[in-house]
Amino acid sequence: MNLKEAQVKDIVRKVLLQMEAGNKEEQKLSGVFTDMNDAIGASIKAQKVMQQLSMDSREKIISNIRKKTLENAELFARMGVEETGMGNVGHKILKHQLLAEKTPGTEDISTVAWSGDRGLTLVEMGPFGVIGAITPCTNPSETILCNSIGMIAGGNTVVFNPHPAAIGVSNLAVHMVNEASREAGGPDNIAVSIVKPTLASGDIMMKHQNIPLIVATGGPGVVTTVLSSGKRGIGAGAGNPPVLVDETADIKKAAMDIVNGCTFDNNLPCIAEKEVVAVGKIMDELLHYLIEYGCYVISKEEQEKLTAVVLKDNRLNRKCVGKDARTILSMIGIEAPENIRCIIFEGEKEHPLIAEELMMPILGIVRAKDIDDAIEKSVWLEHGNRHSAHMHSKNVDNLTRFGKAVDTAIFVKNAPSYAALGFGGEGFCTFTIASRTGEGLTSARTFTKQRRCVMADSLCIR
Ligand code: NAD
Repeated sequence: MNLKEAQVKDIVRKVLLQMEAGNKEEQKLSGVFTDMNDAIGASIKAQKVMQQLSMDSREKIISNIRKKTLENAELFARMGVEETGMGNVGHKILKHQLLAEKTPGTEDISTVAWSGDRGLTLVEMGPFGVIGAITPCTNPSETILCNSIGMIAGGNTVVFNPHPAAIGVSNLAVHMVNEASREAGGPDNIAVSIVKPTLASGDIMMKHQNIPLIVATGGPGVVTTVLSSGKRGIGAGAGNPPVLVDETADIKKAAMDIVNGCTFDNNLPCIAEKEVVAVGKIMDELLHYLIEYGCYVISKEEQEKLTAVVLKDNRLNRKCVGKDARTILSMIGIEAPENIRCIIFEGEKEHPLIAEELMMPILGIVRAKDIDDAIEKSVWLEHGNRHSAHMHSKNVDNLTRFGKAVDTAIFVKNAPSYAALGFGGEGFCTFTIASRTGEGLTSARTFTKQRRCVMADSLCIR
C-alpha cells in the first residue's frame, strides 16, 4: 500500500462520518456504539461466546488480527499522524509491524500442576471476563491492537474508552479486531468502543458491576482515577526516562543509540530517552557525536524562547507534542538544516525542559561530577515513576548500582530505548507498561486470573 496524503485525509473523514452515522440499528463500524452501556452489554454477550471457544479458536482470531495489522500498518500509521498531528509515519508503521509479530498470544498462558499421592492439582489462568481499557493518543491504534491480542488470548472481551483526540484511528482498530474475529469464526464485539468517549463514559465503564478489571494506559491523572475506582486496576502511567552515560561507555555508539531512541516516533513512546545525564569527563566527546548524529545545540536565549513555547503558561503545549525537531525549532524562528533530528542543550536537572516529560525530541544534558552524582541526578529525574531508565556503560558495577537505585520496570543497557519493546532486543512487545502497579510489561497472562482446580486421590498416574 502506498497512500497519498489526500487519500488518508479522505479515509479519516469517512471513518469519522461512519461513526457519526452509527446507531443501534445501523452500525457502520463494528463494535462502535453510541452509548457506553450498550457497548458494555454487547461485550458481555460476546464474552459468553468467547468462554465456549477452544484455545485453538482464540489463537485463530489472534492470527487474523496479526495478519490484518500487518496489511493495514501503513493505513493506521498515516491515520494516526493525520488525526492527532503527532508522530512519524515510518516509525508508526514499524510499531504496528512489531506489535503484530511480537505481542504474545495464548502461548503466554501456562498451567502449573502438582501431582502426588493425594491426586492432581492445577492452577489454570482464566479470563477476568469483560475488561475496561483506557488508551492514549500517543500510541492509539498500537495500544488498542496490542491490548486486544493479549486480552483475547486470556479469554476476555474488552471495552475501550479511547482518547478523544485519536477516536477515528482507535475505532478503526476496534472495527478491524471484530472483522478478524468474524472471519476466523469468532463472535462480533470482542472489542467495543463508543463514538464519543468522554470522562463520563469512562466513569460508567469503570463503575460497571460486570467489569472486574480496568487497564489504564496514559498520564498520571487517568492512572490515579483508575486506582481510586474500587476495582482491580492495572496502571500504565507516565515516565520521564533518563539515560545515563558514564566514562566507560562507547561514546560514539551511545550518541547514535540515544538519538535513535529519542527521535523514534518523535519521542512519543513513554519509554523514550527524555534527558541525558553524563559524567563530566566525556561531555565534550558526547556532544561532538550527538551533533554528528543530527542534534542541534540551542543557546541560553533560545532555551528561554523554547520554554515559553513548549511550556506555555506552565502547561505542556499539545501543539508541540510529537512534532519533529525542525518543526519545533521553526516555532522559535530557527530554520534548521534537513539533517536535524533532535534539539540539545546543557542545563541543570531542574531546567523545565529537562525535568518535565515533554514527548518531543528535546534532550537536555545534565553534567555530573562522577558516577555517584550521575546516579543521584538520574534517579531524581525519573521522579519515582518507576517506569524506564537507560544507561550506556561497560562497567558492570555501575550498571548494577544504577539499575538498583532507579528501580524501574524497564532498564535498557547499551541500546536505544526501543530495545525494551523487543525492537532490536530480545523479548516480547507491549504498549502498556504497568509501571505504577508493578505488572511491568503486560501480556496475555497479566489479563488472566489464577484458578486452582483440584482432583483429590485420583489422576496421579506416576
Ligand atoms: P492522557 O493521560 O492525556 O490520556 C490517556 C487516556 O486517559 C485518554 O483516553 C484520556 O481520555 C483518559 N483520561 C485522562 N484523564 C482521565 C481521567 N481523569 N479519568 C478517566 N480517563 C481519563 O495521556 P496521553 O497524552 O494520551 O498519553 C501520554 C501519557 O501517557 C504520557 O504521560 C505517557 O508517558 C503515558 N503513557 C504511558 C504508557 C505506559 O505504558 N506506561 C504508554 C503510553 C503512554
